[in-house]
This record gives sequence, structure tokens and C-alpha cells, in this order.
Amino acid sequence: MTYSPRPFLLSETNWESVQKTRFDLAVLPWGATEAHNYHLPYATDNYQVEYVAEKAAELAWAGGTRLIVLPCIPFGVNTGQLDIPLCMNIMPSTQLAILKDVCDVLQRHGIRKFIVLNGHGGNNFVSIIRELSGLFPEMFISVANWYQAASREGIFEHPGDHADEMETSVMMAIQPGLVLPLERAGDGSEKNFQLRGFKEKWAWSPRPWTMISADTGTGYPKKATIEKGKKFSAIAIEKLAEFFAEFSSKTKAEMLA
Ligand SMILES: [Zn+2]
Repeated sequence: MTYSPRPFLLSETNWESVQKTRFDLAVLPWGATEAHNYHLPYATDNYQVEYVAEKAAELAWAGGTRLIVLPCIPFGVNTGQLDIPLCMNIMPSTQLAILKDVCDVLQRHGIRKFIVLNGHGGNNFVSIIRELSGLFPEMFISVANWYQAASREGIFEHPGDHADEMETSVMMAIQPGLVLPLERAGDGSEKNFQLRGFKEKWAWSPRPWTMISADTGTGYPKKATIEKGKKFSAIAIEKLAEFFAEFSSKTKAEMLA
């Protein structure tokens, strides 16, 4: 029997290893459970954010960063999708309550650096982290959206932000058995608000999802390939690993210098 618990994943490691490791940084992957067009699984965001978190942590750990990846939170903010069956919405105020408790645990055990690694566009942690930073002044808390860490340019042909070419490609690369044949996918066409303020992006309002997309997707997914998914995720993983290492090792003053 060979044992292979990875010491940087809390879900795999054990008290023997945790007791003797001084972790400088905790990373919390946060996804969503929601419909992803006809062809991708509900947990798409969770599979993706966990995968990039694990791979980036592996690289950072190999470089000497002592970080611990916490188990993924699988439910996200889906208030625009409440009428779509089993989109497992949780409220932003619930996210704040969860993060307060997580910060309390981390602070008790001397972990001062904390990154929420986000994998779902409906999650917005900025105002929550402003509040947490006031409540936990000794901690340094950050959010990173993994899907924005790599540029889509030169890889994908079609833009989109939900069950699109990018998400479909990444899932083909990491969970091929859960991606249905692309001829079964809808075309992901979406309607946008026609008001000038929204078009120019200085006004914002959540869009009711069933009114903007017939298949729950936004973005044409049918040009997705495994190769595109591997390329995009590899770039994101490398940039995240570098960010984990820098955020972990530098003081606030060094980061701002
Ligand atoms: Zn998604």
C-alpha cells in the first residue's frame, strides 16, 4: 500500500502532518452549483476551481510556499437563477457569515494570509472582504477570480461567460466523462439590457437568467476543444502559483512598495 496524501490539501492531509507544518497562507476555492447549458454538469464551477487550486498549490508548494487549500464551498450566489430548478443559491450575507467563521479559525491558528479563489461570476467577494478586513485587521485577505487569470485572446474564438467555449474546453480537459456531445448543447445566445447606462457599463443590475438565455448558457460553446482547455488552464495555474507564492511571502508593505 502506498500512501499519497498531498500535504497542501486539507481534505487529504492528516493531523500528523498539519501539526508539524507552519502554514503561511490558506486558499479557499469557492464555486457554485447551477445549470450549465445542456451539456455541462451542475458542479462545473466547482470542478474547475478545485482543479486549478490544487495544481497551483502543488507548484507553489514545490517552490517552498507553505499553503493549505481548504475544501471547496460548492454553493454560490444565484439570485438571478432562482427559477431554474436546483440552482443552489446562497445569499451574499451567508457568504459573509461563512467567511467570518473561516477567518476566525485561521486567525486562531496563526494563518494571517487568506485568498478566496473564486470560480463563479455571480460571486462577488469585494465588499465582503472590505468588511472582513475591518473585522480581522491582523489578516491580509484577497480574492482572485481564476477564470480571469489567463487571457482568452488567441485561444478562444467566441466570447461568453457561462457554459461558453472556455468553460466547455476546460471541462473537456479535466472532466471529459461529464461533458455531453457538443451537438446536444444549446448555442448559448443571450439578450442584454438595451439601456445606455448598462451598455456603457456605468450602470449595473442583475439579469434574470431565464429571460436572457434559453439554454442557461451565455456564449457559443461548440468550438471548444481539449487542447484549448489545457492551454488556458495551464496559463491560469502558473499565474495563480506565482500569486500564491508572492502573496504568502511578502509583507503588506512589500506588496505596496
Ligand atoms: Zn460556470
